[in-house]
Amino acid sequence: MKRDQFRDFDNLFSAHKVLRHSNRVELLSEGKVPSPVCVRLAISDYRPVQMDFEGERNGMFDSQNAKAGTVDHNPRRFIETDRAIALIDNMAEMGVKAVELTGGGDPAAHPDHLAICKHVLERNLDLSFVTTGVGLTGGVEDVLAKASGVRVLLDCSRPSAYATLHGCRETDFSAAMDSLRLIASARRRALRDGADENDVTVLGIECPMHDGINELHEMKSLLQMAYGAGVDYVLLVRRAAWPAAQAVDVMNRLERVLLDLSVPAGLALIDRVMKTRSRPPRGFCGYQYLAPYIGADLNVYRCPRMAYSEGGLLGSVAEQSFIEFWQSSEAALELREFDALSKCFICPYAAENALLACESKEHNPLGNFL
Ligand code: SF4
Repeated sequence: MKRDQFRDFDNLFSAHKVLRHSNRVELLSEGKVPSPVCVRLAISDYRPVQMDFEGERNGMFDSQNAKAGTVDHNPRRFIETDRAIALIDNMAEMGVKAVELTGGGDPAAHPDHLAICKHVLERNLDLSFVTTGVGLTGGVEDVLAKASGVRVLLDCSRPSAYATLHGCRETDFSAAMDSLRLIASARRRALRDGADENDVTVLGIECPMHDGINELHEMKSLLQMAYGAGVDYVLLVRRAAWPAAQAVDVMNRLERVLLDLSVPAGLALIDRVMKTRSRPPRGFCGYQYLAPYIGADLNVYRCPRMAYSEGGLLGSVAEQSFIEFWQSSEAALELREFDALSKCFICPYAAENALLACESKEHNPLGNFL
């Protein structure tokens, strides 16, 4: 499929994607533990710019220094490069299909993020890279141009607003924009050099909605800048703490923006602000089997939302390989015995879990009656 025909960007984040992995879903419905489809790997828990990465808000993220009585909310915690490479090798051997390098912190803050990205691709794994775009190593844009997806977190269109919101320098905003342009330009180069349309990255901006971004002019500028930088989509996400009423207000504002703004062809606006962040529909969580999360603390968690929390903790790969852990009876017990209703206040993957429960004989005994 040609890139310019790829218009239905809502499917990029559709819950229905779980049904593409029917062999795993079948194993799950038989009570077995399939290999994950995708693993999110936080190679760095440090980020140069304070942004909302899912998973960083839970209690185990912070680094406590009991002796000094201090708490570091931005710990300089990284997975050693050799360990990250071994984890990726494990994933390839297990038949994992995709690796998302994400926060925790910012994968770009890891000194070897270029080598780690290359290794994911060398092992024929799909690569996604979620970053603030600040601090990318020179040359990584050529590797990221061949990733499946790159998403840069950006939530305003002015350097001064960015610096105020994130407690950073105004030049960090320029760095994020430069990263977007560099990756878009590397993608054009790859296409000119003969790369297939399906083998170059989908480039997006993830925009956590907040008071400053609700303004029409701010949204307009952001979309125009995204288009100018060669971005494919802008993904609007809701900050976890928002009450529903505020989210409705944001969406009303956004609707007005969209009426007033002709979104250029080739740029998609994907709204996940109103995506249900309801309580899990039932105690069963199938998502944790298919898309676990490994933090830079070398703990394995059930999902990004529950990362760095006791309730989300599945185990650790500090003293064992990921294969050993995933195939252990300890992991099977943790996965099977988990009661999402008592542990998860909200679930961003409620739709995926509803689909997976529907596929399971245990949770839907009338599955053959269509
Ligand atoms: S029920 Fe939802 S929030 Fe809870 S562990 Fe599963 S995917 Fe995460």
